[in-house]
Amino acid sequence: MSNQPEHIKTLIIGSGPAGYTAAIYAARADLKPVVYTGLEPGGQLTTTTEVDNFPGYPEGVDGPTMMVQLQQQAERFGTDVRIGMATAVEFSKEVGGIHSVTIDNEKEITADTVIISTGATAKYLGLPSEQRLRGGGVSACAVCDGFFYKGQDVAIVGGGDTAAEEATYLANICNKVTMLVRKDRMRASKAMQHRVTSTPNIDLRYNTEIDEVLGDQVVEGLRMVNNQTGQKEEIAITGLFIAIGHKPNTDIFKGQLDMDDAGYLITQGKSTKTNIPGVFASGDVQDKEYRQAVTAAGTGCMAALDAERYLAEVAS
Ligand code: NDP
Repeated sequence: MSNQPEHIKTLIIGSGPAGYTAAIYAARADLKPVVYTGLEPGGQLTTTTEVDNFPGYPEGVDGPTMMVQLQQQAERFGTDVRIGMATAVEFSKEVGGIHSVTIDNEKEITADTVIISTGATAKYLGLPSEQRLRGGGVSACAVCDGFFYKGQDVAIVGGGDTAAEEATYLANICNKVTMLVRKDRMRASKAMQHRVTSTPNIDLRYNTEIDEVLGDQVVEGLRMVNNQTGQKEEIAITGLFIAIGHKPNTDIFKGQLDMDDAGYLITQGKSTKTNIPGVFASGDVQDKEYRQAVTAAGTGCMAALDAERYLAEVAS
């Protein structure tokens, strides 16, 4: 590790809509932010195709383009965007304390404030056919991509609240939604289960898993297997939605920041403050409920404002 740490006012970890929006606000407030992009510069949106629900893009925009534009906007105000991964942190518990973050196991940055926007990663089943067709009809976000399957037949995997909510969302847009639940019951709340079972164009299949996603370049169908009887069945679909949960990217903060049972960072009240003074959290890393680019951007803005106010209080 290099001996001399670099000291900055505001370090932003993560480069999705939350991180870049925090950077735009922090840079304009003269906090001279440094953004470390993480392993997936631009975050989850770089793996989606068209983004049609971010306000201000009447014709839609593809995810990677939007993230490049957000980066350019942050850089226009002086944000220093660097490729690198935060691999360890040492947060000070004192008000006005200095936080230390290690980048790529070698470089140490010390910062007065840290904004964590490391996001969450959608879980996938891990089937080779599913991985091959990601971006070709396999998606982990019905609200982002469902519209492209208007009037078509799709399938969704999962039995939690997300799967139930997304199945009913898709049922409004699509012709038919086949919902695959691996157990003989759903984990979703009773109210959500009721919505699913009372939606006529949702074909709910319990004890059912995916054997293979069919199609070369794009999804053309699904071979399902009943895990009780072993019976297989093929259906024709054009879209497959995986809704089996997300994993927040918080491993390096364990033991230092308060998090819930699933690992999401806990923020105080309506703010982005964590339990450590000067450390703030924005975006999906602290939100398992909404998980939209626009809500992430909103909390990124809040985190930068919270950081600015914190620095002003510490200085006074
Ligand atoms: P959950 O962890 O609650 O549910 C995941 C679902 O996916 C379960 O049904 C699970 O099955 C299934 N699953 C997991 N792995 C596999 C696999 N390999 N193959 C097939 N199925 C699999 O995740 P959610 O994203 O649904 O919800 C996360 C949290 O967010 C929850 O606390 C939820 O209540 C909350 N939430 C609340 C909402 C609301 O209130 N409006 C909306 C969305 C989420 P099994 O049950 O067999 O383990």
